[in-house]
Amino acid sequence: MTSNRWLTSSLPGTARPAAEAGLVASRLRKPTKPLDHMRDNEDMNTLSRPVDPRALVFTPLGLGGPMGLGGPMQPQVAETFLTRECELLALPVAVPEAVRAQFAKVLRLYSDGLFAYDHFTTASREAHRVLEVALKVRFLEHYADGVPLVTEGAERRVRVSTVEELRQVLSQEARLKGYPRFKGSLASLLSWARDEGYLYGQRNRVREWATRKIRNEEMHTEFDSIYMPPDTVRTLRLVSEMIARLWGADMPSRMAYPVTIDRLPMVVGHGPLGLEGTQFALEQLAEVRDDQAEERIWFVVLSAWHEELISWAPDIETTSSPVTRLWGPGSWQDLHEAVCAPGSTWQADTVKAVDRIFYMRVCAGAVDYARSGEQVRALRGSAPDERWFVVTADTPGDARNHVHRVVTGSCKSRHCHCPVTPIYEGARLETVVRYAKEHPAA
Ligand SMILES: [Zn+2]
Repeated sequence: MTSNRWLTSSLPGTARPAAEAGLVASRLRKPTKPLDHMRDNEDMNTLSRPVDPRALVFTPLGLGGPMGLGGPMQPQVAETFLTRECELLALPVAVPEAVRAQFAKVLRLYSDGLFAYDHFTTASREAHRVLEVALKVRFLEHYADGVPLVTEGAERRVRVSTVEELRQVLSQEARLKGYPRFKGSLASLLSWARDEGYLYGQRNRVREWATRKIRNEEMHTEFDSIYMPPDTVRTLRLVSEMIARLWGADMPSRMAYPVTIDRLPMVVGHGPLGLEGTQFALEQLAEVRDDQAEERIWFVVLSAWHEELISWAPDIETTSSPVTRLWGPGSWQDLHEAVCAPGSTWQADTVKAVDRIFYMRVCAGAVDYARSGEQVRALRGSAPDERWFVVTADTPGDARNHVHRVVTGSCKSRHCHCPVTPIYEGARLETVVRYAKEHPAA
């Protein structure tokens, strides 16, 4: 066996099983120096099993091997990489030991994919099973004082030790209080966790829907399937984050949760021409030298550092994360006076960046900009045929896309799979203004 044969191994899905290929880590590197020779001996000790070459082309920098950039990983490097990934995916101690232990087995299965490629696929299936376990454990913890049931209008509490036990009760005319359609299924548990606020965010709602579909497909399909390591690690990140949120904890991956952003006071100068401008942190103001400062219109806002503020506007929603106006509009001199004024204590903050409520006007088939409730209340005048849509969405772009799809007939019901939750469709201005007054924070 030579390293040359190793480098010409097949792509994932077509490579021969590792045992057949006879690839053993210790044989893949030719020692050139005494130190390398020692490392190879170490490799032989720690990686004494044949590796599956398909697992080695998924490098931290992308696809390696014949169809990618660079070569495949060395087996020892791959093992270190997988071990590091699993360390980052380990559930936090806030999660009950019973759930953590089951997820730890999933991670061991995932890292064992280095030797048995099919384990990447099995790990994904198992992750979805453990997600359901975690939802059940959290459900039972949530109702530790008894599950509230309603039977023909009468309310009672029952103590159950498993969700399966509850299912038996639910099938006898009883309904879970507040959740008449709860059946104890994965779909019911996900919906319950969302309504209780454990899971949130509109794009995450689509992820939950997709997770349920994939889990059902994995469980019920008659076809064989195979997942590549990047597929599985995405699943593990999402599932671990969902499980951690059930106990109010966060994972380092931050793929779907906690979706909060750190904001700081930022200065925005618009002009002199349209779509021209500048932005910088307020604390940089004393250092800024701007030849066009006198020609710009200035604002101070609370915003994420990375947010694009040149196209931000005070009367419409255009930014992917929430931006709050603190001061402005004003001149360059006004800005300096406002900053130096006693009482200008603009502070950084951290806010949830999802589940924002957007209001959109549709007039003659054209979808207007998204607005916040406060911006809608500030509008003056209306067209006789204008209608308003109000949705919960994570970004104004998601909100407008959905409304555009409704107007053009692509979204035919309130149960489309856009990352939005409709609140009003085709309402009058007075109706949505009243809603905005009743929900001032939205
Ligand atoms: Zn839609």
